[in-house]
Amino acid sequence: MAQTLTLDSLQAAFRGPLVSPGDPDYDGARRVWNAMVDKRPSVVARCTGPADVVAAVNFAREHDLAIAVRGGAHSAAGKGTCDDGIVIDLSLMKGVRVDPGSRTVRAQGGVTWGQFDHETQAFGLAAPGGVVSTTGISGLTLGGGFGWLTRRFGLSCDNLVSVDVVTAGGEQIVANVDEHPDLFWALRGGGGNFGIATSFEYELHPVGPVILGGLVGWPLARAAEILAFHREQTRGVPDELGISAAFVTAPPLPFVPDALQFQPAIVVIFCWSGDLDQGQDVLRPWLDLAPPIQMVAQLPYTVMQSIQDELAPPGRHSYWKAGYLAELTDDAIAAVVDVAAGVPSPFSLAEMVLWGGAVARVGDDDTAFGQRDGRFLFNAVSMWEDPSATGANVAWARAFHDALQPYASGGVYVNFLSEEGPERVAAAYGPEKFGRLSRIKAQYDPDNVFRLNQNIPPAR
Ligand SMILES: Cc1cc2nc3c(=O)[nH]c(=O)nc-3n(C[C@H](O)[C@H](O)[C@H](O)COP(=O)(O)OP(=O)(O)OC[C@H]3O[C@@H](n4cnc5c(N)ncnc54)[C@H](O)[C@@H]3O)c2cc1C
Repeated sequence: MAQTLTLDSLQAAFRGPLVSPGDPDYDGARRVWNAMVDKRPSVVARCTGPADVVAAVNFAREHDLAIAVRGGAHSAAGKGTCDDGIVIDLSLMKGVRVDPGSRTVRAQGGVTWGQFDHETQAFGLAAPGGVVSTTGISGLTLGGGFGWLTRRFGLSCDNLVSVDVVTAGGEQIVANVDEHPDLFWALRGGGGNFGIATSFEYELHPVGPVILGGLVGWPLARAAEILAFHREQTRGVPDELGISAAFVTAPPLPFVPDALQFQPAIVVIFCWSGDLDQGQDVLRPWLDLAPPIQMVAQLPYTVMQSIQDELAPPGRHSYWKAGYLAELTDDAIAAVVDVAAGVPSPFSLAEMVLWGGAVARVGDDDTAFGQRDGRFLFNAVSMWEDPSATGANVAWARAFHDALQPYASGGVYVNFLSEEGPERVAAAYGPEKFGRLSRIKAQYDPDNVFRLNQNIPPAR
């Protein structure tokens, strides 16, 4: 009874739907990408705009409700939902407005990268975003954000011009280089700790509409040789090349020979966003190795941006373990090839993303984002369907990570953290940045109202 009265008081100030236990939409509204996370909030407040966000934050504070914020719900750790508290769900906030004159775009907090790319590519423009189109721009950008264009144009957060934020006190403010510059610094890599971002303004760049993209692959037995080649061949490649090597189980697709389907493989996935003829030359060395798995084509950039969607659908159980490598040494390669061979689920993958380029050209102090100088970012992504197989799949991602630990440069990408404890969150930034972020947190959210995230507690 008390809960009904409480929700009535929120409804009076709220325009969007409020979904609570018993509503037909409740299970859909509380669900997140990672099926390991199965939580039951008291209410999911589906905001239609910033005023709804303000109402929900004020209501939560007044009723001492824990707040989970949901953008695209793709948090690896499943942070976009909670037990008992309120989910402030931005997924109905889909506004995107491109200004082709200034080459900027303003996008609301519920937009996904597929929706973002759809609108910006209508003008032949793009900002670096994630490589799976269903991922939210919100969480990805606030934690840093990399994708196929990152070596050329920087992280998603490097392209931010301005962010509209609802603070823990329910105030609407703007953060950019002139207004609340400390907050603007923290929002570029510090995650969702500092307020709820209701919209983001990004700088855009001419891209495509056609790029050269695809993947090439070999059976796992050739992984050591291919990875050593890949390490050398990627030295000094132009920034227009986004490229990753990944251990996968080869899917039953037409470009995979029958004998290799469902078998472990090493693949190299790439997107060349520069001059198409030059791209053929840059990719020639990999093609000269006559990869038995081969799908290379001139594709619309929007197709490239969704080409991996089916590898990571929502609704599977997932556990991630990530880090950075200063170098992919022969010993490191040998260590991971062994682990890759023992992968328990055909859905799992482990990727090594070529870092550098524009990422490394942004000053380390310019943003909160922590790790710009590695050579490769790596991530073991276990994905499986049978909940009873959790132990083996979590163990595999950890084993992959542990095998690389002796060669890792320290640190971790905050958006690739599972539920790993406060030390690992601190490791994403290093002590100095973490201290600065804690002080900014104390200024904007002294009571840690926004704590259901990769949390940076306020400095005391
Ligand atoms: C299939 C898949 C592919 C991915 N690919 C990439 C990739 O290519 N590059 C990359 O960098 N990362 C990638 N990621 C990781 C991704 O960056 C994070 O999972 C990110 O948190 C997703 O953002 P979201 O809005 O979808 O998630 P959510 O779960 O909605 O949110 C994630 C976190 O951000 C907070 N948050 C969300 N929106 C807001 C907001 N508006 N204001 C304040 N806080 C907010 C949430 O509280 C939560 O803590 C991928 C993840 C998945 C599952």
